Amino acid sequence: MELRVIKAGNGDSLLLKFKDLTNKKRNILIDGGNKKSDYNKYLKNEILELIRLKENIDLLIITHNDQDHIKGIEYLLKDPDIDKSIIKSIWFNYFKNETFSNVNKPNYDISTADAIKVQNLINEYKIPSFNKTLETRKKIKFFGSKITLLSPFIENLTQYKDKQTVDVSATSDDYNYTISELIKGNPNVLNGIDENLDDSFSNATSIAFLFEYNNKSLLFLGDALSEIIESNLRSILTERNLESIKIDIIKLSHHGSSRNTSMSLLDLIDCDTFIISTNGKKANLPNKLLISKILSRSRKVSTDRIIFNYLDTMNLLNIKEKEKMYYDFETPAENYKNGYFIKL
Ligand SMILES: [Zn+2]
Repeated sequence: MELRVIKAGNGDSLLLKFKDLTNKKRNILIDGGNKKSDYNKYLKNEILELIRLKENIDLLIITHNDQDHIKGIEYLLKDPDIDKSIIKSIWFNYFKNETFSNVNKPNYDISTADAIKVQNLINEYKIPSFNKTLETRKKIKFFGSKITLLSPFIENLTQYKDKQTVDVSATSDDYNYTISELIKGNPNVLNGIDENLDDSFSNATSIAFLFEYNNKSLLFLGDALSEIIESNLRSILTERNLESIKIDIIKLSHHGSSRNTSMSLLDLIDCDTFIISTNGKKANLPNKLLISKILSRSRKVSTDRIIFNYLDTMNLLNIKEKEKMYYDFETPAENYKNGYFIKL
């Protein structure tokens, strides 16, 4: 199995590749990033490589309608160089589908125009599209793998529909503080109090899921809300009679915002590899405070790896080598031309 964290500007674009039980290569593309120039420079190369190798995008997941996730998919669907028949299925929670209309049409800040464009392109190319994934707590079998949805569900959307509409992150960056200063200066946050968690409706609509295959488990959290992920993860733990879940890789929610990963969520997960996807050019994300949260969690067992798809973002955080030694973590960044890849 291989995960590619593709450079996607301040957004997300991840390509998960695995061989199914018949040894056929399968690909799941999650989101497409933001800018056309990034699409042309990075994601497009990945798709052309798939075409060269005669592989498909077996599943395309658009986590939500925010531009930093959906725009790259629009460029992909409009690109005359790409044969759209390689896209075999799409999950897209387009807000005008039946499910969303059940939520009394809230007044929220979702990029409606982009969603309509993408939905029209999906219709035009007759790509099988499933936009009811959030109706039930679905477990989906996918070429031998198991996908369990963690966000969103209809009750979550109802709960957040009147919440703040703006995707607010920190008003200034925290990069001039050392990890030690952030840990000492934020005792409440690191004890799970006053975390000021994201409750925006647009991020409440984000798909998040657990992917399991060949004894490997990955969490793809989109921009989802920590509270929603946590409550649905707790249901899975109860079903499996577990206290915590072993995860090989987490794609952290919302470009490394400290407001989308709570201490109580971290307490449910045994994991030492975390991915932050952003070029660091939006909303002061990632927050260095999130790294302090990860390093302060109760379940830390071995050397943590906090991985960046942009070297610039890692440098921006200004983490001192002696702090990496002291707190026992590494910050790998950008290991191939299109971002970061991990074999597992
Ligand atoms: Zn985003």
